[in-house]
Amino acid sequence: KSYGVNELRRMFLEFFESKGHLKLKSFSLVPHNDNSLLLINSGMAPLKPYFTGQEIPPRKRVTTCQKCIRTGDIENIGKTARHGTFFEMLGNFSFGDYFKHEAIAWTWEFLTQVVGLNPDRLYPSIYVEDDEAFEIWNKEIGIAKERIFRFGKGDNFWEHGSGPCGPCSEVYYDRGEKYGCGRPGCTVGCDCDRYIEVWNNVFTQFDNDGKGNYTELEQKNIDTGMGLERLAAVVQDVDSIFDIDTICALRNRVCEISGKEYKKEYKWDVSIRIVTDHIRSATFMISDGIMPSNEGRGYVLRRIIRRAARHGRLLGIEGTFLANLSNTVIEGSRDGYPELEEKKDFIFNVLTQEENKFNKTIDQGLSILSDMEAAMVKEGKTCLGGEDAFKLYDTYGFPLDLTKEILEEKGFTVEEEGFGKAMQEQKEKARAARKTTNYMGADVTVYESIDPAITTEFVGYDRLSHDSKI
Ligand code: ATP
Ligand code: MG
Ligand code: MG
Ligand code: MG
Repeated sequence: KSYGVNELRRMFLEFFESKGHLKLKSFSLVPHNDNSLLLINSGMAPLKPYFTGQEIPPRKRVTTCQKCIRTGDIENIGKTARHGTFFEMLGNFSFGDYFKHEAIAWTWEFLTQVVGLNPDRLYPSIYVEDDEAFEIWNKEIGIAKERIFRFGKGDNFWEHGSGPCGPCSEVYYDRGEKYGCGRPGCTVGCDCDRYIEVWNNVFTQFDNDGKGNYTELEQKNIDTGMGLERLAAVVQDVDSIFDIDTICALRNRVCEISGKEYKKEYKWDVSIRIVTDHIRSATFMISDGIMPSNEGRGYVLRRIIRRAARHGRLLGIEGTFLANLSNTVIEGSRDGYPELEEKKDFIFNVLTQEENKFNKTIDQGLSILSDMEAAMVKEGKTCLGGEDAFKLYDTYGFPLDLTKEILEEKGFTVEEEGFGKAMQEQKEKARAARKTTNYMGADVTVYESIDPAITTEFVGYDRLSHDSKI
């Protein structure tokens, strides 16, 4: 039996409610009281104070479906079947309550009995030294030992500097040979899209003192994360997260607007998927009060919107189109996120303004960039100078990674260090200029000590976005 995205979300949350968990609403994408993170990237991130003991959780068992942004995955977007810059992470959490036995048993029960996935296609992985998890999978769940994969620290040990850390146990689903890379030795853990990781269970049981000494924590925690879109792709037995019910509707809309047919040409498909992904990210980021800007998370948003706009152009879309697509995002997601509907007009305005701003300079910028390319060819260079890249950024609004991406398509690179230097120089010039001018008697440079990530935040929805627990 197949289930829709909105149904799967509900099934997961209800399942863990039936196991005594308190359901909390997704927290904002903007971290609260946490300067270590630009954007929330996992279900666990906004719950950190409960894990460290800084705050008392409302209950020892909590379940959420958390909005996440992972810009680190941006290069994968459109190319793998399983990555989005935006996705929803389902999670169950134990703050010093249940531990491995329950977590593993419920993972298995949910996947095989509630959702009905074929157990023969599921493979758990464990941390190489975690014999306890091995015994549970093997003896209690009954998974044959050759089906349990042991991975090292890089993959299956969760650690973030010093503090609480511990081994992980992931669950992979075999989507079948047709999705395999065909390389010899392709098996669980291969980075192709055959065995896709659906769920990760983190067992925070140690404290790392920062010098590599691990001591058992008195209060052991469970932190799990499962990508809703990935789960849906597996349950619906479709090629990628771009083919699941809610995202497919959006992808079709991109095809409609651009007049391009999906699955005709790989190059177009990548652009179609990039636009599809990025408009989801942008819609959710704006709904959480992030505004396009040149710094911090505002810049992340700006890059995403501009990259989407450029891929829209590559697909032949003319004029502004992002608000139109955003409407489809909202239609598909308002079930889980009613606030999208409330902020609809605001979201459309922000998108269209940013798109218009970029549209004014993109053609000029692209033509300047072609001139630069021609000059490089003439001079036998393959790397664009940092100052040129900075000029594109400063005058034509081209985020560095956009310039990089355009050049990469033609086999060129960018001198990033020089770009950074030019950026720094400009900042210093601006600072020197401002030092001499007082604004109504106040030294304007004081504003520079404020975290740029925070100053770029739109504060109008602050209360709404932080007041997100039910
Ligand atoms: P992968 O190895 O496939 O990149 P991951 O190990 O980085 O995944 P985790 O950090 O363990 O992922 O996150 C928990 C779960 O969240 C994953 O098992 C997956 O289902 C989901 N997930 C992670 N990154 C993404 C993404 N970019 N898009 C969609 N789902 C994701
Ligand atoms: Mg990853
Ligand atoms: Mg992984
Ligand atoms: Mg993982």
